[in-house]
Amino acid sequence: MGEAEELFRRLERDASAGGYILNPNREDTMTLVEGLLTNIKRYGYPSCPCRIADGRRELDLDIICPCDYRDADLSDYGACYCALYVTRDWIEGRIERRVVLERRPPRERRVGLAGAGSGRSAAKGELGGELSTTPITPASGGKAGEEVYASGAADMPSRLKGGYPVWRCRVCGYLCARERPPQVCPICRATADRFERFI
Ligand code: SF4
Repeated sequence: MGEAEELFRRLERDASAGGYILNPNREDTMTLVEGLLTNIKRYGYPSCPCRIADGRRELDLDIICPCDYRDADLSDYGACYCALYVTRDWIEGRIERRVVLERRPPRERRVGLAGAGSGRSAAKGELGGELSTTPITPASGGKAGEEVYASGAADMPSRLKGGYPVWRCRVCGYLCARERPPQVCPICRATADRFERFI
């Protein structure tokens, strides 16, 4: 099996496990998968095949596939910016197929954000292992001092007795209160550098 086919199968498996759907147009999808592979070889991480990467992981974290913008684009357009991920409504023509407008902030702003320190570390990413799913249940088996929430920030303060900072996974929205972000998000498997300090 070739690299592209292997990656495609992995993406498909992870998408299915997370309730996501890959674009059923096999030709288009394989072109995007090839683009991801090219970026892995070029940069060392699977940056979005439809965007120009900076080449510095810390500046490209938001576009490591699946990018920070995927879920919002799926909600608004039924497809991500590249249309690698799509919704059932998009496939079945129940929503109009429109051009997905770029949500990514301009580089100057991103550089500023990265420089300001968003709580990200330089942890290494895993290809195809950063797929997102909506966090609906608390993870179990956390370490001492860790608490995990499914319901967002609303009930957070009452639980912050330990005084730990709260970290938010930028891919799936998972929140946890602990000294440092987890190495891997227990919900979507995004790496530690996809977390930001939330509170
Ligand atoms: S999820 Fe984001 S990074 Fe991945 S292909 Fe779609 S637009 Fe590009």
